[in-house]
Amino acid sequence: MIKKFIRKILGVKDGRNPTEPVTLGVEQHGIDLKLLSPNAIRLTQTLQEAGFKAFVVGGAVRDLLLGVKPKDFDIATDATPEQVKKLFRRAFIIGRRFQIVHVMFGQELLEVTTFRGAGSANAPKDEHGRVLRDNSFGPQHEDAARRDFTINAMYYDPATQTVLDYHGGIEDIRDKTLRIIGVPEARYREDPVRMLRVVRFAAKLGFTIEPTTRAPIPVMAPLIDNVPAARVFDEMLKLLLSGHALACLKELRSAGLHHGLLPLLDVVLEQPIGMKFVTLALESTDGRVKAGKGVSPGFLFASLLWHQVLEKWNAYRAAGEAPIPALHLAADDVLETQTDNLALQRRIATDMRDIWAMQPRFERRQGKAPYKLLENPRFRAGYDFLLLRCASGELDAEIGEWWTAFYDAESGERERLLTQANARPAAGEKKKRPPRRGPRHRSEGAAGNDTGMGAPAAAGAGEE
Ligand code: ATP
Ligand code: MG
Repeated sequence: MIKKFIRKILGVKDGRNPTEPVTLGVEQHGIDLKLLSPNAIRLTQTLQEAGFKAFVVGGAVRDLLLGVKPKDFDIATDATPEQVKKLFRRAFIIGRRFQIVHVMFGQELLEVTTFRGAGSANAPKDEHGRVLRDNSFGPQHEDAARRDFTINAMYYDPATQTVLDYHGGIEDIRDKTLRIIGVPEARYREDPVRMLRVVRFAAKLGFTIEPTTRAPIPVMAPLIDNVPAARVFDEMLKLLLSGHALACLKELRSAGLHHGLLPLLDVVLEQPIGMKFVTLALESTDGRVKAGKGVSPGFLFASLLWHQVLEKWNAYRAAGEAPIPALHLAADDVLETQTDNLALQRRIATDMRDIWAMQPRFERRQGKAPYKLLENPRFRAGYDFLLLRCASGELDAEIGEWWTAFYDAESGERERLLTQANARPAAGEKKKRPPRRGPRHRSEGAAGNDTGMGAPAAAGAGEE
């Protein structure tokens, strides 16, 4: 019993000694060298020729074992950051939480980390036990024990084509299991972000979270509050841009991680009215990521928070505010809460505001206004957003179809579409009052009238 407990603390599984790795040859692991970046091979080779150990490590090995081309390569070595830096022309020591070396080969960036030691007992921590800084170096087996999950703790040497497995990662890959290394509670306490990581990997890889790895999460979830907002935001972004955002959010909910943690998630997961819109937005994001297309974080967050903006927009208008200023006030409120809690970068917040502020202008289909909107550098994002609003049933489908036709049309055809739009008012524009100028707010100038929930038929000052 005691022996078992000590083993558990040391991360020993099935009686395995975690200082001695299992070594797997190519016939056992089956990694296809062609999935490796030539630069990762070059980098490990240079380090090895200089007398150091060097391996591809972490997520890249996991992906290689799954037959997936890794999106980036992390390298682990026993060379110190200074020793690594000296070997490469374009190498930079980056020191945030952990010191690492960025090595550039053309456009490709590889991260090189020196094996970390098991010194976390002495590392400075916050009052909740979160490790603040820990740069002690150590032997490779200690480096392995400090990694988060067994499937992320394998080392691959391209020269000999062998995999070193200290924690039964290869079996867990085969069983599609996510298992934390060591005592789960202690590992989440050291770094609560691991709770978000396990959820992301489970959703992305379609793996099952092993029960003892999963059990403490709902209880320990509030520890995420103490993690610097910027780090949580980075992890959220990874989660949402993983190509499996919908699955990730479902998994977050089922792991009990959605409650009172991130205001953004509360909004998204606990507000059923916006769910259709959010689901469509995430489906489209996942589709784009899987197709290798770019995704703008601004668009994504603008979608996730749109229904919160809508609600506040309506409230401000009900309180007598004109539609455009009301929209800006609503955007201010939503962005303010989110920037405090989520460290939304200013650039992303600006993109979100642009996308929201453009929306009423799509409903103005007279004169030069639609042409002006087409010239807006952010038109495409605003238009895609409009289509989501239509698809979710918030707006009449006709307006989205009209804009698609207008966007695709030649100039003569555009005039015809304009005439047609003005002859046959859209459903959302039925209760139209005569245009009136609204007070200008910020740089956006467009005024409108009220036609109900989220569909103010904007009229009036649309000039930039
Ligand atoms: P991906 O890059 O696909 O998101 P990854 O596993 O490569 O997944 P990274 O954030 O790139 O994730 O980290 C590289 C490796 O560093 C991980 O595989 C893991 O071994 C280790 N690691 C990263 N974050 C942590 C953490 N919070 N705690 C312990 N080990 C970690
Ligand atoms: Mg990685």
